[in-house]
Amino acid sequence: MLGSRMRGQTELLMAGSLRDLIPDDHVLARVDRVLDLSWLRAEVRHLYAADGAGRPGIDPEVAVRLMLAGFLLGIVHDRRLLREAQVNIAIRWFAGYGLHEALPDHSSLTRIRQRWGAELFRQIFTRTVRACVEARIARGEVVHIDATLIRADVAWESLGERHADAVLAQDDEAESQPPSHGTETARTARRRAERDGKQTGRYKKVCLTDPDATMATNARNRRLEPAYKQHTAVDDGFGVVLDVEVTTGQANEGDHVLPQVDAVAAATGTTVKVVTADQGYAYGKVYGGLEERGIDPVIPAKKEPIRSRVPLRRFRYDARHDILKCPMRRVLRPQRRVEHGRYFYSRATDCRRCPIRSDCLSKGRVNKAVVVSDHHPALLRARRRKERWSREDARLYQRHRWRSEGFHGEAKSWHGLARAVRRGLQNMRIQAFLTAAAVNLKRLAAALFALLGPWRGMSLLAMLARLLARTVAASIRTNDPHSPTVRREIVQQPHAAALPQRARPCRQGAAAHRLGLDRHRLRRR
Ligand code: SF4
Repeated sequence: MLGSRMRGQTELLMAGSLRDLIPDDHVLARVDRVLDLSWLRAEVRHLYAADGAGRPGIDPEVAVRLMLAGFLLGIVHDRRLLREAQVNIAIRWFAGYGLHEALPDHSSLTRIRQRWGAELFRQIFTRTVRACVEARIARGEVVHIDATLIRADVAWESLGERHADAVLAQDDEAESQPPSHGTETARTARRRAERDGKQTGRYKKVCLTDPDATMATNARNRRLEPAYKQHTAVDDGFGVVLDVEVTTGQANEGDHVLPQVDAVAAATGTTVKVVTADQGYAYGKVYGGLEERGIDPVIPAKKEPIRSRVPLRRFRYDARHDILKCPMRRVLRPQRRVEHGRYFYSRATDCRRCPIRSDCLSKGRVNKAVVVSDHHPALLRARRRKERWSREDARLYQRHRWRSEGFHGEAKSWHGLARAVRRGLQNMRIQAFLTAAAVNLKRLAAALFALLGPWRGMSLLAMLARLLARTVAASIRTNDPHSPTVRREIVQQPHAAALPQRARPCRQGAAAHRLGLDRHRLRRR
């Protein structure tokens, strides 16, 4: 028969919780079991006026739950999130709103973010890390580190050129003078400024609407985009995110790995043993810094760049005497410091009669100058190690791809990290912390879900009831006639209990016996 349904009902009457309408395996229902924000109110109290003064704001826990719901469901824009929450029972229940209650305005979430600042969101994230460590799904011993670019929320039209001021100044200068044969025109001045900018690296464009984002690319054959860079540390076990930090897109990954490793150790309370990273981190300072901390770096070293016919690897560093020896066994001594190393110079008298002088020295030089990084021996060790990587090294590096690159893919595909939601570095940091917190809560909830098995979806009371029932069943199986459980059974079912174990009737048979019916008649009833 064709069914029909009346539409336009005027009211929804409901007794009980909205939770009853949400499936147990819904991500918000699962995350709710592991989310603890009871500490938050005390943490933000000092940011609000004293009780009784002013209009009461949104409950801090409600605000964070709304934001987390957005990141968990991939609805990262406040307007869209609150529009969705109007009709989404799961979001309403997760945030603590009934069906009839009005939701806050989307701008309230913006004001809360501004009031709290990024560090409070880092605390929320760090607490999820600790919860994962306590649940033993993260250990923090093997850590995979990687970085990813996040497109800034700016239009291409909003990009300006960094040397615009110089161009304008030269334009003014050229235009203020009467055109003559010897004076350069405004166009010539612009061309000259562009050429100078290209040569000095200042030609890169700048985001006028979001100056914190800078032009960057993750491949040589891809164009530069206004971007931020997220640096992430992921645990090896279950892919729990242990630390995230956001910088401008141009930042070098190598500058952030050591502070990040220290942050991971502080968050987990465990000593990091192994760090894996890709070739973007293959710097002497990274190898040296990790070795100083007693950490094993599984980072594939790059081959030495060959820029001269007599490459740097032919110069032997003698750490004991702190000298460098050239291929002709002449000594180069350290003199001038640069940011991450020192210049070693040979003597001009040594090079004057050298047979390979034309290959070794740059044009116009009378002696050799070589930069040696502070952690040069560590870099050489890493290069030697890369030539004979063990199976374990290869396995760890493969897991690096699954874990860190897997997290970035997951966060960008499902949690809105592909593009910055708001402008400014602090807003981007908040987005990164909330995304990482959402992913960690997902991992924690999944671990609990797997652990509970047949108990999943039950309230604590139901679990206790089932546990009690199991204990009773186990006690009956012991068949001890003196146990209180069996005695109670005996009182309730004297005929059944009097029978030996094998001859005991089935449940239907016992019920039929109590009612004085045969089993088949009971089935018909
Ligand atoms: S040119 Fe000078 S530094 Fe180079 S190999 Fe000869 S002696 Fe050594």
